[in-house]
Amino acid sequence: MSTKLNVYNTLINKVEEFKAMEEGTIGLYTCGPTVYDFAHIGNFRSYVFEDLVKRYLMYLGYNVRHIMNITDIDDKTIRKSNQLGITLNEVTNRYIQAFYEDIDRLNIVKADIYPRATEHIGEMIELIDRLDANGLVYTKGNSVYFSIDKFSDYGKLANISRENLQSGGGTDSDEYEKDNVQDFVLWKGKKEDEPSWDTKYGDGRPGWHLECSAMSMKYLGEQFDIHMGGVDNIFPHHENEIAQAEGATGKKFVNYWIHCQHLIVDNQKMSKSLGNFYTLRDLMERGYDPLAIRYLLLSAHYRKLLNFTFEGLDMAKQSLKRIGDFVFSLEGLNPEEGVTPELTELIRTNEAKFRSQMDDDFNISGSLGAFFDFIHEVNVRIKDLKKSDVENVLAYVKRIDSVIGVLKKEEAGLPDEEILKKIEERQDARKRKDFAAADAIRDQLKAKGIVLIDTPEGVRWKIEQ
Ligand code: AMP
Ligand code: ZN
Repeated sequence: MSTKLNVYNTLINKVEEFKAMEEGTIGLYTCGPTVYDFAHIGNFRSYVFEDLVKRYLMYLGYNVRHIMNITDIDDKTIRKSNQLGITLNEVTNRYIQAFYEDIDRLNIVKADIYPRATEHIGEMIELIDRLDANGLVYTKGNSVYFSIDKFSDYGKLANISRENLQSGGGTDSDEYEKDNVQDFVLWKGKKEDEPSWDTKYGDGRPGWHLECSAMSMKYLGEQFDIHMGGVDNIFPHHENEIAQAEGATGKKFVNYWIHCQHLIVDNQKMSKSLGNFYTLRDLMERGYDPLAIRYLLLSAHYRKLLNFTFEGLDMAKQSLKRIGDFVFSLEGLNPEEGVTPELTELIRTNEAKFRSQMDDDFNISGSLGAFFDFIHEVNVRIKDLKKSDVENVLAYVKRIDSVIGVLKKEEAGLPDEEILKKIEERQDARKRKDFAAADAIRDQLKAKGIVLIDTPEGVRWKIEQ
């Protein structure tokens, strides 16, 4: 497969042409949620961007094997379970469920596997064994640490020079200060009120970084194509993942590291600790459609900060409505047979533009701009479209949507057949001249955001954006 996809690789700090390790297949690992609470839309900026990359690779014809970890043990999950007085599993199951619901609402394509850290303790111990065999670990107190000065490549992802490394004094916190470059913990000795596993390294639990190296290599092999996350993952998390993986295997771990910039609010990162966050549920309660939120999150270039505002969200809603209305009007046409060669050509050149912008390090704003130009140009000549033109345009919109994923797949929780059944019931009621019953059905559907439109060809329905 030949593509000219160019991506900014954090490892070399520049844009380079993407080449898959194996023709046609891509191994992709993305860092997943720590399941101690609902994810906020800052987290979802990263997950939606990762989804865009994955969908685009699939559009290009690659078969993508995607793994996303679930951090179900760390300082925060343990703290929450102690606070609520429920087991760690109860806490994490609750938020894993919520996470799956949220990604479904945001139309994020499911990963092939969502491995949980607590179910891979054996693999993590084996990884420590390999690091130990290579002389890269030491024990202090009841914990085991990675010795960063024994791994000469340490700092290559985050561009940290060796003079700034502080070896010897290990930290066992999962979230240590980013400018404090210290040996990091692989295995934490048991503390009171903490879940633990009895292993050859003592009773304890894994450090946060270890899970991603162990689980990515288990499911994708010791070397794979793409690893993604938010920019805050670069250091220390991804730096440590490289150290653990390459320290064990002696081979290059990942070819392309791609990082998404932050969603910010008033110039600060949206985060739990600052309290300046919205969850998807918060915004849905205010009446926002998750797909408008998805549109907002993906429509800015991933290497630029994106400032969250409600005006921005309203604009995203309008853009979405334009695409929805376009499809709606195309579907409502009753054109005569035939095809217009210029329109076929317009689709071809527009798709080439859409693609060339995406190939340019996922320049989504350029791609969307091209697509909206297309909508405009087709709208101008919509009355002249022939039957095959309409089919071709709709097929094109579908291809674009396979990448951006903003069109509704299922309407307001009612599968299509059910909506059609309701419409038939309403038609029957009207035939019986039972207008009260007919209106009641119309209102029922309206309450679910479905608007009925009576046309000479029959009743049509659409979702109110
Ligand atoms: P965490 O649960 O904090 O490990 O974060 C999960 C993912 O969300 C990671 O890939 C983070 O880099 C990403 N993330 C966290 N906050 C933001 C933000 N404000 N904007 C974009 N990505 C974020
Ligand atoms: Zn990770």
